[in-house]
Amino acid sequence: MSTHTLPIENFVTHLECSQTGKHYRRNTQLNLSDVGKPLLVRYDLKAIKAAVSPAILNQRPQDLWRYQELLPLTQAPISLGESVTPLLSCQYLARALDLGEVLIKDEGRLPTGSFKARGIAMAVNLAKSLGVQRMAIPTNGNAGAALAAYCAAAQIEAICFCPDDTPQVNLQEMAYYGAKTFRVKGLINDCGKLVKQGADQGLWFDTATLKEPYRIEGKKTMGLELAEQLNWILPDAIFYPTGGGTGLIGMWKAFAELEALGWIDSRRPKMIAVQADTCAPIVKAFHTGADHAELWPEAQTIASGIRVPIAIGDFLILKALRESQGTAIAVTDEEILESQKNLAKQTGILLCPEGAATAAALIKARQNGTITIDAKVVLFNCASGLKYPMPGLVQTFEPGQDIATVLD
Ligand SMILES: *Cc1c(COP(=O)(O)O)cnc(C)c1O
Repeated sequence: MSTHTLPIENFVTHLECSQTGKHYRRNTQLNLSDVGKPLLVRYDLKAIKAAVSPAILNQRPQDLWRYQELLPLTQAPISLGESVTPLLSCQYLARALDLGEVLIKDEGRLPTGSFKARGIAMAVNLAKSLGVQRMAIPTNGNAGAALAAYCAAAQIEAICFCPDDTPQVNLQEMAYYGAKTFRVKGLINDCGKLVKQGADQGLWFDTATLKEPYRIEGKKTMGLELAEQLNWILPDAIFYPTGGGTGLIGMWKAFAELEALGWIDSRRPKMIAVQADTCAPIVKAFHTGADHAELWPEAQTIASGIRVPIAIGDFLILKALRESQGTAIAVTDEEILESQKNLAKQTGILLCPEGAATAAALIKARQNGTITIDAKVVLFNCASGLKYPMPGLVQTFEPGQDIATVLD
């Protein structure tokens, strides 16, 4: 299915425990480290620097595999068309907020309509090359859809556990790709326990966020792409709707690798984690100075992708926020819906609720001075707005109704 013809050279040196730094063998299918923390993939950056340059990248197809030296691939990828996503200039918000530029990275264009495709594409490709036959995932919808699709492409069995209020459209998508799909009474962390139970019994591989080392490498490509699209000069701030935080941690890792390659300098954007005020464990931990976040009780929000009451990578998220002099901002569901509707009407861009949360957070950040005049900021729209149920705004035209009343 892949059309990528690049020879695959693998520069991975080892996997590393994100807490203790302990090394693990490369190209192995592992979950967490001995101390139960995420594993990070490390590369021979000197060798990569000698092997590839921005000029060489220029010649390659516009997809995420263009960064193959910085990825853990060992063979030509199974692909569903992971195009570089556009950076849309949102002049409406820039003008309204006196900003230099507001760019929306529109991740809704990826296979299965969300950026989960990036991480899952990588995880499934690695799993396939390492001989995994069955993968399970706890999911609020988008990760499960991506796992189901890539597993279908790779002919691996997929099993998805979803909170029971996951929208029907997401459940159907997973099931259509042939994944065994289950509703579970509880939230994503309850689904995670079931996936772990099965993995402990040897039934399948646990593909949960940050519990396997390769999804983050896929998500990292958001940072690589962004840097390349901005001609290797990063923006002043990045607003990221944060659930498990893979994307934020991944981008932060990408920037470190790019600096080691000498492709960007040491300046970094403020990394700004956005959450719903009804599920804001990272926001709370950030503002209380904690290194870890506590489980958020009775988490609820319409932005289902960020309804994650506890994240195993919490300390990595908090570290990136602090190192970047960023912050964490909570917004209400009302603010999310309001900015989603308003931006759709004003710009023609239908954000997903999580993406709309970043727009709502930008307004707050501008008001409280976190973001200053003329700044250049990037918002992440992580999924197509079409994947979400929309509140009814449509009227019925009654038989015999006067046509002129349509404009009332
Ligand atoms: C998963 C998801 C998020 C959160 O991404 P993380 O990198 O896990 O924090 C945000 N928005 C959408 C639409 C998602 O599907």
